[in-house]
Amino acid sequence: MLIIGPPGSGKGTQAERISERLGVVAISTGDIFRANVRGGTPLGIEAGKYMDNGDFVPDSVTNEMVRNRLCQDDVDCGFLLDGYPRTTAQVDYLDAILAKGEQKLDVVLQLTADDEELVTRLLGRAKETGRSDDTEAVIRHRLDLYHEQTEAVVAKYSGRGILTRVDGIGGIDDVTNRVMGSVAGAVAHPQVPAASGR
Ligand code: AMP
Repeated sequence: MLIIGPPGSGKGTQAERISERLGVVAISTGDIFRANVRGGTPLGIEAGKYMDNGDFVPDSVTNEMVRNRLCQDDVDCGFLLDGYPRTTAQVDYLDAILAKGEQKLDVVLQLTADDEELVTRLLGRAKETGRSDDTEAVIRHRLDLYHEQTEAVVAKYSGRGILTRVDGIGGIDDVTNRVMGSVAGAVAHPQVPAASGR
């Protein structure tokens, strides 16, 4: 499964909740980049140059990182990718990885929200987390990139008939309930809690 949404739409929060409920690992490219930036790794030093300005990390760097991550054993029972793919070239790359592993996407979830609402949310988050890419100019640039590049990704998956759109505005629990209601039928093996009393 993929989760796609503009910056501030709650992708990360919802991805964690969905992954718990479905029993699959959540993989956030933004989180992996941030961990590498903190660790001062070569990948982090390269990615950090782009992230601070709100630019996309180049496809060559991002694709390679995702390919390595998707080789690990914990994705065998399924995964939820958060924040990838963001460009149509990344869609093609992911298609190739999945085809090689004889895997397929069950569902692509798009969280939607109004731009001005997102700017307000992200400026609020900046006060709490001090994320270096949460200044107003950088936020607006990230939103522009979402519209210019990632909406084409959404259109591709829509054309394949696997896109589900969910309104990302509202309380965290409400949005999770909306999401679970809309994806439950589409995922291959939702984890069902064991029946009690046996
Ligand atoms: P996020 O936490 O998903 O908002 O990602 C934070 C930043 O990481 C983005 O603004 C980009 O600089 C970088 N990033 C994350 N995912 C990707 C991706 N799929 N392609 C390019 N850059 C990415």
